[in-house]
Amino acid sequence: MVSEHKTANANFESLLRIFTVPEGPDSTLTRIEEELSRNLNQFLREHIVAEEKPLKQIEKDFCDARIPDEPVFVSDHTQHLLDTLVAQSVHTASPSFIGHMTSALPYFMMPLSKIMIALNQNLVKIETSKAFTPLERQVLGMLHRLIYGNDDSFYQQWMHSAEHSLGAFCSGGTIANITALWVARNSALKADGDFHGVEKEGLFKAMRHYNYDGLAILVSERGHYSLKKAADVLGIGQDGLVLVRTDEHNRICPDDLQAKITELKARNIKPFAVVGVAGTTETGNIDPLQAIARICQQEQCHFHVDAAWGGATLMSGNYRHLLDGIELADSVTIDAHKQLYIPMGAGMVLFKDPHAMNSIEHHAQYILRKGSKDLGSHTLEGSRSGIAMLVYASMHIISRAGYELLIDQSIAKARYFADLIRAQADFELVSQPELCLLTYRYLPQQVKTAMHQADSSQRAQLNALLNELTKFIQKKQRETGKSFVSRTRLNPICWDKLDTIVFRVVLANPLTTNEILHSVLEEQREIATLAPLLMGRIERLTQQILA
Ligand SMILES: *Cc1c(COP(=O)(O)O)cnc(C)c1O
Repeated sequence: MVSEHKTANANFESLLRIFTVPEGPDSTLTRIEEELSRNLNQFLREHIVAEEKPLKQIEKDFCDARIPDEPVFVSDHTQHLLDTLVAQSVHTASPSFIGHMTSALPYFMMPLSKIMIALNQNLVKIETSKAFTPLERQVLGMLHRLIYGNDDSFYQQWMHSAEHSLGAFCSGGTIANITALWVARNSALKADGDFHGVEKEGLFKAMRHYNYDGLAILVSERGHYSLKKAADVLGIGQDGLVLVRTDEHNRICPDDLQAKITELKARNIKPFAVVGVAGTTETGNIDPLQAIARICQQEQCHFHVDAAWGGATLMSGNYRHLLDGIELADSVTIDAHKQLYIPMGAGMVLFKDPHAMNSIEHHAQYILRKGSKDLGSHTLEGSRSGIAMLVYASMHIISRAGYELLIDQSIAKARYFADLIRAQADFELVSQPELCLLTYRYLPQQVKTAMHQADSSQRAQLNALLNELTKFIQKKQRETGKSFVSRTRLNPICWDKLDTIVFRVVLANPLTTNEILHSVLEEQREIATLAPLLMGRIERLTQQILA
């Protein structure tokens, strides 16, 4: 490499060069670009989980807090990035990486994302985004129509209206949930008489004006932790997030929801929003949305659906009925960076009523003038990238029909895996897949029998050992195995609601084959034999119980 003999130096002339479009096919940058694409392709083709290097050791490559005084050549630095960063990152695209909602991307994202970076539009205002703004509004319109299914004239009227907004694009489901609950809070504590609204006077005066002793948001005990953050930043307080009981399928119990609301009201606490979960993060189950909608209507509370993960299911004509009732929600969160296969940073919140977001409208003189179509007046975030163009592109390139196939195959695969687990004598399916997510654990036949026959103290004891085993297997598989599943903690009703550690699998990657699923179980069974002491303790307790 030429650069080995030269050193880069900081002069204005070479600085100008890095801002200039590279000329010709032989330029250094063009060469680097091609090489990088080759390298990344190779990285993405290697369908194995990277050999684990302890984080402590990786940290050594990133421990210098000094900003370099002198520049280096791009080519040298590219090599540095390949060695220290790319080689030690996670193969989220690997077909055997089935533990998280982050999966492979369609390849066309790589070249198309260059448009986004190259043009560097800022969606906060029209002056820095022009056509990207109507494009983003159209994407929001598409998702709105997917959920609420209004007719064309509705979208003609509202989609591009300066005074209205069908929703907001944001970095992810967390911000989308906060935005929805922000709107809900501000409408619950709106201006009234000589009170100018919570957005002007703050929560303290709002509570005094409305004569409440507190506010509450209700969600099932399987709700996402982002709602806790929302309760915190909106001034409700984390205790204001009230958790409602779930049934044996991890779905909210409407009776308990109603009871909790009544209880809160008796304590003069205003339940201003209920969140239904459409695809829980841990088990993928969907709350009975229609039943929640009925309660919200009676109680005049904002109905938000957190469909960050499961919302993509609406793309399938065969499975969208699982989310029946979502069209009754006042607002809905959808993450395009989950099962819509868009790169990270593409969250959305949609509002049924085009006026709803007026309660959080902000204006500023130099930017976001009133009556402008600037998206920034309705978003929590300020400067934002043009990532909506990637959603726009996949809606065209993949289309609804393509997404339907993707969703359907993912659910079919989860059902296949569930059947496979059920057919094994030494595994237990803990939560059945409603969408493409399921949980299970390693549980040898005899131990299962012992779990059933044990008294409650023995059962808790045995279960604790099984938790150790599940943790061991998951960790070992992640570190040394050919595949990755995640783990979480559930409280299955069939096991006295004991804290139960389970493997969690998300089958979104279309390249994951049935063979891979077979080998995941095979591998886990083998790893269990690597813990003879633990297995011995489980065995002894099992014999003791069965004796
Ligand atoms: C992923 C997820 C979120 C959070 O979304 P981020 O994009 O990670 O901020 C919220 N709710 C549910 C149900 C999710 O699955």
